[in-house]
Amino acid sequence: MSSLFIAGHWRSSASGLRDDVINPANGEVIEAVDRAGADEVEAAIAAARAAFDAGPWPKTPAAERGKLLGRVADLLERDRADLGRLETTDTGKTAREGLLDIDDVVSVFRYYADLAGHDLDHDVLVPTPGVRSRIRHEPVGVCTLITPWNYPLLQISWKLAPALATGNTMIVKPSEVTPLTTIKLVGLLAEAGVPDGVVNLVLGPGGEVGTPLVTDPRVDMVSFTGGLATGRTIMAAAAGTVKQIALELGGKNPNIVFADSDFETAVDHALTGAFLHSGQVCSAGSRIIVERSIHDDFVAELARRADLVRVGYPLDESSECGPLVSQAQLDKIERYVEIGRSEGAQLRCGGIRPTEGALARGFFYRPTLFSGCDRTMRIVSEEVFGPVATVEVFDTEAEAITLGNDTTYGLAGAVFTTDVERGERVAEALRHGTVWINDYHPYLPQAEWGGMKQSGIGRELGVTGLLEYMEIKHVYRTIEPAPPGWFTG
Ligand code: NAD
Repeated sequence: MSSLFIAGHWRSSASGLRDDVINPANGEVIEAVDRAGADEVEAAIAAARAAFDAGPWPKTPAAERGKLLGRVADLLERDRADLGRLETTDTGKTAREGLLDIDDVVSVFRYYADLAGHDLDHDVLVPTPGVRSRIRHEPVGVCTLITPWNYPLLQISWKLAPALATGNTMIVKPSEVTPLTTIKLVGLLAEAGVPDGVVNLVLGPGGEVGTPLVTDPRVDMVSFTGGLATGRTIMAAAAGTVKQIALELGGKNPNIVFADSDFETAVDHALTGAFLHSGQVCSAGSRIIVERSIHDDFVAELARRADLVRVGYPLDESSECGPLVSQAQLDKIERYVEIGRSEGAQLRCGGIRPTEGALARGFFYRPTLFSGCDRTMRIVSEEVFGPVATVEVFDTEAEAITLGNDTTYGLAGAVFTTDVERGERVAEALRHGTVWINDYHPYLPQAEWGGMKQSGIGRELGVTGLLEYMEIKHVYRTIEPAPPGWFTG
């Protein structure tokens, strides 16, 4: 089956090149997909440009565009079970997480379906009589949307839904590791009635397929979610034509636990923060920072609970953690665990691959906890992006804040305390784009998401997530024109 979607048609690669997509739970090929060559990338950019410059979409009333997004949400709900299963098979996340992702994607489409109809244009109050000054919001143009492998459908929806709502056209490039649900979503967009050329899909490795998408002068904006190193490359590449850019990058997220927190709740959230989706989450609470008086008990209980986590085949309902996404990711995690050991951190649990039965064929790794960590260690300062958490200790609130902010990243963090004022104080002091108090991981389509410092530029979700895909234009109109009289000749 052809898997590239260009100008409203499914196409195969002219080169005939196809890439295997691997099931991380058993290493088997799920299916092979087309790899876009230079011809297909060129055709996709040309189609998006033509659809923006001459097509109906940018001029379609926003409320109509919103209705279409609502239809997409209906189709996603219709196919929920299949999509959830496919996301699980492709990424290795558990069946429960796969379905949760689909529900979240539906919420995002419904939110922007509603927001699309809200007119953001407004008049500016002008002191000069006879003048009308109006602020208009217009689509940015042709957008390249590039996504990572950990939340394929969710991340592309955070971009697609607002970009479509605001009348842009786009080229979508999912991760080569997990492209399958994005292919399905593009099919649903066509079924919902998105006009030809508005959404184009190309597949393949980032350097090869992604580079022209971020350098071509016909592209107006690049919205990228992925790793810090790739983000830097894309930012530099996009500078050549001064494109708008939005970057959602990595994180090294502190989870600060005060002695006055509810102990069981804090342990439970620390587990979820660190090990959900085997820790392959940009906002994973991989850096646990605990007040000294409860430190030893907290670490002991966390290690005990982490040892009980049921690592297993992701479609098996009893599994709580699936495999890592790829052999490369597994190799990287094993390297980091070795680094942790050599840096002198104490391994409290995990640090091994499960090898029982069928699990030996997949890229599984046990939840791993290191204590005795400090900020000079690479396992504390670098984004590991796997089921590996570190524990540091603090004595005062000020020290907890200093540690929490001592990272080049600034994506997310959490604070656990029963002292309401302290929770608010620490949340205010942390330089991270999202801070949870007595919780970990929840996000809302209505609330902006994004990173401070080297975790990114811009925000997704919320009203700001819509504004990212808009240009703002000032139209100044003199109602009764008269000569200005500057020049007399
Ligand atoms: P990655 O940077 O390796 O790849 C991301 C995407 O960029 C892929 O589609 C890839 O093909 C493409 N790409 C790679 N090189 C490119 C280039 N030169 N030009 C254009 N495109 C290129 O990231 P990954 O390993 O897929 O994902 C993991 C990373 O994503 C982690 O660092 C994680 O923190 C981050 N992430 C961030 C958020 C967030 O909201 N901030 C969400 C999810 C994941």
